[in-house]
Amino acid sequence: MALVNEHYLKLPGSYLFSDIAKKVNMFKVTHPGTELIRLGIGDVTRPLPEACIRAMHKAVDDMAQAETFRGYGPEQGYDFLIEAILKHDFAPRGVSLSPSEVFINDGAKSDTGNIGEILRWDNSMGVTDPVYPVYVDSNIMCGRAGQRDGNGMWSNVTYLPCTAENDFIPRIPDKRIDIIYLCYPNNPTGTTLTKTELKKWVDYALANDTLIFFDAAYEAYIREDHVPHSIYEIKGAKRCAIEFRSFSKTAGFTGVRCGYTIVPKELTAFTLNGDERVPLNPLWNRRQCTKFNGTSYISQRGAEAIYSPEGKQEVKTVIDYYMENARLMREGLQAVGFKVYGGINAPYLWLQAPAGTSSWRFFEQLLYEAHVIGTPGVGFGPSGEGYLRLTAFGKREDCMEAMRRIKNKI
Ligand SMILES: *Cc1c(COP(=O)(O)O)cnc(C)c1O
Repeated sequence: MALVNEHYLKLPGSYLFSDIAKKVNMFKVTHPGTELIRLGIGDVTRPLPEACIRAMHKAVDDMAQAETFRGYGPEQGYDFLIEAILKHDFAPRGVSLSPSEVFINDGAKSDTGNIGEILRWDNSMGVTDPVYPVYVDSNIMCGRAGQRDGNGMWSNVTYLPCTAENDFIPRIPDKRIDIIYLCYPNNPTGTTLTKTELKKWVDYALANDTLIFFDAAYEAYIREDHVPHSIYEIKGAKRCAIEFRSFSKTAGFTGVRCGYTIVPKELTAFTLNGDERVPLNPLWNRRQCTKFNGTSYISQRGAEAIYSPEGKQEVKTVIDYYMENARLMREGLQAVGFKVYGGINAPYLWLQAPAGTSSWRFFEQLLYEAHVIGTPGVGFGPSGEGYLRLTAFGKREDCMEAMRRIKNKI
């Protein structure tokens, strides 16, 4: 008799986007012909950079000839891509890493979800609230999150509220937590941590033997100098942090699939009796070699092209486009009196609902009165109540039209 992993039965349904779809469909039935503007999508919309397209076409041609054909590649990724990453993403920021500290993957979601496998199930963990759902759900699946209480919070998860009251800066815990997930620039709030703030986390982690999982998927959107692109810009971080990067939001790779994870050689965790420090890099390498057979050669050639001079220019053009959307939206919303956060170093705006209005009420107000679709903040965690997420990934005309409608109707 096969027994299921009962932790899966504890998973709350992922209703957020289906609840939104239901409400939108209801609106469409009662308002046929009304044009809606979707600013809720968390996916890019601009096509791939030309340089990536050319590189991927060429990679397909390589596959067509016996002399240049590639079968299984290294599980950790091809050297050509790892070298480009080290040279362009880290060396210019004063971070020196060795090739064996880089693991190419098929996107950051896989590794942020899988990384917990190399750690005991009974570590304690903490997340910022609101949060990208993968971090908590992947821990529920292995039993690490504990039990769910009446408010939908998990017994073994410490929630670090990020709201306007604390300027979206999570407070350093007053107790030891074994594993902490940080995502900066943040999805969903679009806010960041300065070097000074991030250093407090690294210092906390070093003092408490905490492991930080740092998700930097939106690194390419950073505009301000005091915002770190990598946690390894902070001294000591190689001893306490794993960093996740992705080409998805950087270069439109959400459908191509490629990203990477940094597991420094110095990074260790303890055995149960606490007398031995075990390096995590060989553990993750072993895990990947057993369960992962590498990212496609074609995707990796496409990713390499992002670092060519043309690739860099084309990536910048697309990110500038989204960030100009973000600026127009932020300024448009502020001009009509809304409190809006994020959107300066990230493609997300975190809009505060008028006092006393819940996330869902505000969502419906925007839908019914302005015909604009956002994402209710409470869907990302209890501290998201009273907020709504708008993304800057849409078309310029749509973003501008949405601002006009909000100005006239709300
Ligand atoms: C989009 C996103 C990712 C990237 O996911 P991929 O699997 O690389 O497409 C990672 N983390 C966060 C917070 C994201 O929003």
